[in-house]
Amino acid sequence: MVGRKPGDSWLKPVTGAAARDARPESFPQAAVAALANPRVRANIRHATTSIRSKRAAVVAEVPDWDLLRIAAAAIKDETLTSLDAVLVELESSVKAAGGTVHWARDAAEANEIVIGLVRAEGVDEVVKVKSLATDEIRLNEALEGAGIQPIETDLAEMIIQFAGERPSHLLVPAIHKNRAEIRDLFRDRLGLPHLSEDPAELAEAARLHLREAFLRARVAISGANFAAADTGTICVVESEGNGRMCTTLPEVLITVMGIEKAIPRFRDLEVFMQLLPRSATGERMNPYTSMWTGVRQGDGPQTFHLVLLDAGRTRVLADPAGRPALRCIRCSACINVCPVYRQTGGHAYHSPYAGPIGAILEPQLAREKGAVASLPFASSLCGACYDVCPVLIDIPSILIHERAKVVARERAGVEGRSLKLLGRAFATRAGYERAQRLGRSFQRPVTRDGWVTHFPPGPLAAWGRSRDLPALPAQTFREWWESRDDRA
Ligand code: SF4
Repeated sequence: MVGRKPGDSWLKPVTGAAARDARPESFPQAAVAALANPRVRANIRHATTSIRSKRAAVVAEVPDWDLLRIAAAAIKDETLTSLDAVLVELESSVKAAGGTVHWARDAAEANEIVIGLVRAEGVDEVVKVKSLATDEIRLNEALEGAGIQPIETDLAEMIIQFAGERPSHLLVPAIHKNRAEIRDLFRDRLGLPHLSEDPAELAEAARLHLREAFLRARVAISGANFAAADTGTICVVESEGNGRMCTTLPEVLITVMGIEKAIPRFRDLEVFMQLLPRSATGERMNPYTSMWTGVRQGDGPQTFHLVLLDAGRTRVLADPAGRPALRCIRCSACINVCPVYRQTGGHAYHSPYAGPIGAILEPQLAREKGAVASLPFASSLCGACYDVCPVLIDIPSILIHERAKVVARERAGVEGRSLKLLGRAFATRAGYERAQRLGRSFQRPVTRDGWVTHFPPGPLAAWGRSRDLPALPAQTFREWWESRDDRA
């Protein structure tokens, strides 16, 4: 049992945004820092190994596991090929049940909608259920910027929020932290200097901290694992019960959901509820599955808003080869088996979607490719991710498809521009001879014994590191021919 000093606030302000990644690096650059931290690697290896073996044991119990995977993939593909109709049906079902539906084209629009809804309630704090969609749009930073304090209620998300860090795993966001680090965080943020690292004591401290927040909260924000279009039912799957508190206690509930989370029928949940807990935490059934359909007078939140988030999903939908990435049910099984993730952890991905799913989803969702263009190369292509994926996403094939896009973009960039310049220079004899003369004078300081020894920094330097390039001859054949005394 832990105590609170008089006058201490359980809810010290969390201003972690500044500590989050302000400097996007490519995966190889970010991985160097991650690989240099053996403690984080050990934590991750330990945690993923334990989840993997639990998953393997419970999956082996299901005789029709592969048939369930085929069924899940078929339901998801059916949804994706008629997503427009499914979403319209979902909207009308939610409205018919007393909810309100909002459509957000991108992260900025979604954040603006949520902030507007919270402000309309006149509150300056909200409780949150763990949600990857809200991590993706950086809702917490947007809320903090608007003077609204988001309180993460999932234990691991709470730890991450206290630390001012980013999650490093889809399902276990604080997988990189060990008990001693969590104890230090709790001591500092909860004002409990004598807290031990005993799990029961840590859990009790979190429980007491959160209980006050639940009882005070008037607005809650959640994500969604599934949304059944025929009934308008939203489903959240979780382990701790904090989600259940958020979706039942406050007066207002706002759910932010990626549009790919819709499924056509309520009964389709039968398939996913067999696959998801086993693939995610290695449990036959997760402890809490909350479902709600609009609002019901005198029972749970009396106002319900559903924010449907695109943020690049329709772009992914338009590419048949990359589209299966939208089948993902965020179980994280692919992450736990990935030999690259197990060494680098999740922070190197600079995305809430780490590991193999992050490597195929993030580059497709992002409009500005930048650092995320390196993610499809963060894989050994061993295929372990495909073997465990409950919705049969052929991740290695999509990785190769995404790699090809990066190569094509690079060709169209540096290589394309170089070839255009060369084409212009070689279009006429005069231009060609001028280029030769220029080349000879420029190469003088960088050649020795007939070979180019130095390349300018940039792509040419990388190209030249493992190649020999002969220097241009001092005289062209034509010049030599013209200079001959004995020519006819
Ligand atoms: S890609 Fe498959 S295995 Fe990976 S998180 Fe998504 S559903 Fe799970």
